[in-house]
This record gives sequence, structure tokens and C-alpha cells, in this order.
Amino acid sequence: MPTDPATQPPGPNQNAEPGPNQLAEIRTMGYDHSVYVPTSSCNLCQALGLSRSTWFEIDLRFAHEAPPTHAELVLVARPPRMRAGAGQIVLQLRSQQIGGLDLWLCGIDRRGVLGPVQVDASYRRRGFGTTLVAAALARGPGYRWSTTALDQSVAARAFCAAQRWPEGVQLSSPFYCSHMKLANGDNE
Ligand SMILES: [Zn+2]
Repeated sequence: MPTDPATQPPGPNQNAEPGPNQLAEIRTMGYDHSVYVPTSSCNLCQALGLSRSTWFEIDLRFAHEAPPTHAELVLVARPPRMRAGAGQIVLQLRSQQIGGLDLWLCGIDRRGVLGPVQVDASYRRRGFGTTLVAAALARGPGYRWSTTALDQSVAARAFCAAQRWPEGVQLSSPFYCSHMKLANGDNE
């Protein structure tokens, strides 16, 4: 006699490991309606309750390094006017700047200094600040990094604690090399 699958008791395979079809569906495409941008989610991360299980799709090419694309979120690097002077990385959403940070880089001393991270109030808590920090750090791989004085608000301290800082980073204690000082107009 045929049995109705819906009324069958749970079989021994109920808690089996995911099969190939389930593994293929480990990533879910989505859409964030607050900023009108596509998102991706890792189903496994969500099941495990991990933070950052959903992320925005960002074109990680810097805008001046690539021809115009259809990308809606774009990182733009603004080089300093003088070598080792203050440059900027900004994040644009459909050509509107929604965040940015200042940074100083010296290839001779292999030093980098990060300034305060700014993200427009209506776009916070989406990982944009983290993206800006990661993009800045990626400009000086293996460099020794420091930051300007950090905001001591609870939100700023939580943001700082969540960053993946490189080893040996000096927080709130900027180290400007002689080239940066020269570019900054310091007469030391
Ligand atoms: Zn230097």
C-alpha cells in the first residue's frame, strides 16, 4: 500500500549531512530595500548565528582604475596632492558619497596612518565603515599602521573593536614618518 510522504514519520536520514544539492544552495542572493543594492548571504553562517552573514556586492576596483561600470557601490581612491600626504578613500552609492576616510601612505617607510572613518548617519550599521578600513589597509599590505585619535563614543569603540587590524597597529597614536610630516607641513 503506498504511503503519503507527508504523513510518514521522520526517517533515519532526517538529520543527515547536507547533500550536494543543499551545499550548492549555501549562498542566497538577496536585496536590501533600504539602499536598493543586491546582497548575498551565507546560509551556513546564518544557521550558525554568525555576524556578517549577509553582505553587499561591492565593485572593489577603485573607480579611477576601471572604466565606468554598472556597479552601484564603488570605492574611489583620491590620491594625495603631495607624496605621503593625506589621500582619501570614499564610498559612493550611485555616484553619491556616503562615506570616506583620510589616509597617509609612505612606500619608503612602509607606514600607513588612518584618519577617522565617516559614514552618513542613514547608512550606518551595514559594514560600510569596515569596508572603507579594509580598502585602506589593502593599499599598504605589510605596512605598519596607526590611527589618528579615535572617537571614544560607545558606537565608535564597538566599531574599532570589530575591525580586523593588522598586527602591531597603534590605535589613537598616529605615527607620521618624515615624508608624511613634510607633506603635512610640519616643521619638525
Ligand atoms: Zn616616509
